[in-house]
Amino acid sequence: MEYELILGLETHVELSTHTKIFCGCPVRFGREPNTDCCPVCVGMPGTLPMLNREAVHDAALAGMALQCRINPVSRMSRKHYFYPDLAKAYQITQQEIPLCEHGALQLSDGHNIRIRRIHMEEDAGKLIHTGSEILVDYNRAGVPLIEIVTEPDFRTPRQAVDYLEQLQAIMRYLGISDCKMQEGSLRVDVNVSVRPKGWKSLGVRTEIKNMNSMAFLVKAVEFEYQRQTALLNQGGVVNRETRRYDQRKGETLPMRQKEADNDYRYFEEPDIPHIAITQEELDAWRRELPELPAQKRRRYQIDWGISPQDAYSLTKYPAVAAYFEKVCQASGLPNRAAKWMLSEIFAFLPDEDAKQNFALAVTPQKFGSLLLLEEQGELTHAMAKDVMADLLAGTSFNQALLGRRGNIVTEDDLETLCSQALEEFPGAVQDYLKGKKQAAKVLVGAVMRASGGRADPRQAQQRIAQRLQELE
Ligand code: ADP
Ligand code: MG
Ligand code: ZN
Repeated sequence: MEYELILGLETHVELSTHTKIFCGCPVRFGREPNTDCCPVCVGMPGTLPMLNREAVHDAALAGMALQCRINPVSRMSRKHYFYPDLAKAYQITQQEIPLCEHGALQLSDGHNIRIRRIHMEEDAGKLIHTGSEILVDYNRAGVPLIEIVTEPDFRTPRQAVDYLEQLQAIMRYLGISDCKMQEGSLRVDVNVSVRPKGWKSLGVRTEIKNMNSMAFLVKAVEFEYQRQTALLNQGGVVNRETRRYDQRKGETLPMRQKEADNDYRYFEEPDIPHIAITQEELDAWRRELPELPAQKRRRYQIDWGISPQDAYSLTKYPAVAAYFEKVCQASGLPNRAAKWMLSEIFAFLPDEDAKQNFALAVTPQKFGSLLLLEEQGELTHAMAKDVMADLLAGTSFNQALLGRRGNIVTEDDLETLCSQALEEFPGAVQDYLKGKKQAAKVLVGAVMRASGGRADPRQAQQRIAQRLQELE
């Protein structure tokens, strides 16, 4: 029997507001444990929460960017459960009426993912296992979260990764979260079920909690698909339960039977008034929305003829996209600029953090001028790369161009270099004449080397090809 995979995602995003959701404590990552806390966020009896309007604003921006309806009135609820990282034994969240509903996000493959809701809630503290003890750090308690819940619209783990990467990009553009999976500012629960191909109704699902990397998410889902289909094929049933992914074993393992909603005894939070948002406020917030990555991608493709993949890489980080656009403006050469960004400049960026905090020691204007010189044939690509390396190292533009600009090997010199290459590599010439056309590359390489990168590679290739044909 062939089974279809169905996934639905519940994603928690920590908002980088100045203060926590119900008190004035700062929101910061990586501080000394239990220093960013007060009686409200550790849950002392008798304290009163005050809703942080900045969190409402940020959550609403997320909702708008994900095409949700923003409810003019929503409410907070108490969700009861016991765990040492939640001292007051209930979490303040939104149950019946969330802030945002009925949104959508389009995947790179064109597939549409429906977003059921986005609600606000408070984060819990963090347990630290030391081996002999379990410690609690309440710095994270009360950090504002949004939970973004999709409909079960994914059919492959790859689609889930695409969705999450787009979500990360959107949050970064909005400036409301850095969405770092490894630091826990983006946390994902994946609901997984399978059903016989062609069936309309959904199978029983399991929920894999707290995936902390995209690679593990893919592995966990693949494992879970195999596990569930094997169970069903043997005549068994899938249990509705919460599971976790064991990275070392490469397996999902049961954690607990899933609580039913009534176990949480949800009721409306009596200490927080309803959250009302006026039309004027909503309009003002909507005007704050920046151009989002999907819009940028479309513009790059339509206006500049940049490929979908390249447009995707260039728009993932707002600072990268903004810089790239300035280089395009300065040079009028978007395709050359895109190639340069993706090959030469990205090579200098060791990881995602470097792209996130992208800043280049070269102004977009100088970058644009360099591209123009290359375009006009005053510099070969190799020379332009050397100039860029000098610029990045702090050399002035004029200094870096000195001795390079206009220093492309002349046709006569190129002819001499080709003759030398043919003499130097008789074996390659023989190979070529015996039909191994690849051997020409050796000769072109020799010319390029001998020219010190001052020969135009296309010209060198043409000249070598011509000389070899004359020998045939
Ligand atoms: P609960 O309220 O019990 O958490 P929901 O119906 O709200 O359950 O769904 C939670 C998440 O599980 C949603 O993201 C939804 O898309 C997903 N989901 C629901 N049913 C399935 C299913 N059969 N297979 C995969 N995902 C599912
Ligand atoms: Mg749920
Ligand atoms: Zn506090």
